[in-house]
Amino acid sequence: MPKKEKIVKAKKVEVKKVVKPTKEKVSKEKDKDASERGKKSYNLLRGMHDILPKDEKYWKPMYQAASDLAAHFQFGRIETPILEEIGLFVRSLGKGTDVVDKEMYNFEDKDGTKVCMRPEMTASAVRAYVMHGMFNMPQPVKMWYWGPMFRHDRPQAGRYRQFHQVGYETFGHADPSADAELILVAFNFYKDLGLPVEIHINSLGTPAERANYKVELVNYYRSKRSYLCEECRNRLVKNPMRLLDCKEERCQTVKEDAPQIINWLGAESKNHFMKVLEYLDELAVPYQLDSTLVRGLNYYTHTVFEVYAADAEISAQSALGGGGRYDLLVEEMGGRPTPAVGMALGLERSILALKQYNEKNHIDLVKVPTEAFVAQLGDEARRVTLKVINELRFGGVKIAFNLCKTSLKTQLELADNLKVPFAVIIGQKEVQDGTAIIRDMESGIQEIVDQKKLIPVLKRKLGKFDDKR
Ligand code: AMP
Repeated sequence: MPKKEKIVKAKKVEVKKVVKPTKEKVSKEKDKDASERGKKSYNLLRGMHDILPKDEKYWKPMYQAASDLAAHFQFGRIETPILEEIGLFVRSLGKGTDVVDKEMYNFEDKDGTKVCMRPEMTASAVRAYVMHGMFNMPQPVKMWYWGPMFRHDRPQAGRYRQFHQVGYETFGHADPSADAELILVAFNFYKDLGLPVEIHINSLGTPAERANYKVELVNYYRSKRSYLCEECRNRLVKNPMRLLDCKEERCQTVKEDAPQIINWLGAESKNHFMKVLEYLDELAVPYQLDSTLVRGLNYYTHTVFEVYAADAEISAQSALGGGGRYDLLVEEMGGRPTPAVGMALGLERSILALKQYNEKNHIDLVKVPTEAFVAQLGDEARRVTLKVINELRFGGVKIAFNLCKTSLKTQLELADNLKVPFAVIIGQKEVQDGTAIIRDMESGIQEIVDQKKLIPVLKRKLGKFDDKR
């Protein structure tokens, strides 16, 4: 029979402050350590990065927001392979785009097949839509994805060679409400995360309208050729729409007076664009018209948009994400003519912006607080403790523990650093008696409870309603 519950007054534990070493110090120590032992230590490839547990507090809510939005707006999850045929992207994104010309991770596999690591996922979603005959399903078909993309880009803050995107694609819906719905999903994603954003939006019209506009654009830029940067002189020949994308100081005045595509749109394209804007007004989604917004990929028609942090100082104003309509791509990729609209949001860049915004506004992301620390003393106790740790999960108590520590003092210091209200302590005696100690970390008062009653007692102390136990 376990002993009756007992209340014991215990000594307060002195807290040792945890001082975190800097990144540089850790790296130097790692290299020194390895070379002293005659070993080589490895670093990441250029442009690659690890996602560490300390950033889980960003990644987890992002996934939560993305999947909640998908469920609410009825997007079904799609996962496609990282490796695809090179041709899929060359055909869809188009030659002359930075991604296809400079950034693809291409290689031949052991069968001699020319493969690449996907640089984006719209093309894969289109491939899947066509390949699985999804045009036979009730339209629209709405899909969302979350995963790594690969571009051999020049690395800098917020720009990696492997990065992650969440994306949403709607097939078989030509109405402007589909464009507005996607922009709303993007806006809500950042709203859920607590980052105010605004949308930059433009229309690229139909290919015929764009072709006429391009002639005018090229004529205009040719007349200003001597003022242009090297890259823009190349774009003049290879991809004139990208002239409007140039960020070089010397090209900015030329860009300001460039002809605007809106004046080359026909009545239908203008009407589509106006309707999208009316929806955004109705939804109170903040937007800016941007006649220079062209996006880097060739498949867009009509609406194109990008998402920026509303605070101009955040992330040096690079886009967090973007998308648009691609009404001709499904047919181009061998499917039946199917209107479509999609977008992708960059997750690393979103985290960077969120961190900057939170720091600037003194916002602390709080993790779900830990409610109890489970400490053990001795081999026998460790065995019982692991069982208790597992039971506490079913009991819905958020706990922390460290089974590699053997000293009770150290474990209570850890508990104090985590600012948990209670510690559960199991030692040799508690194993024999079938009990556990619940220690109030604030007052130091300890109570001995029957192990079978540990969960309900702890939950009562935590002010949690206990159902069955
Ligand atoms: P895109 O697929 O080019 O329209 O890019 C959509 C979003 O993905 C961008 O707005 C960025 O947030 C993100 N992104 C694109 N390229 C990179 C990269 N090299 N590193 C990190 N994020 C990227």
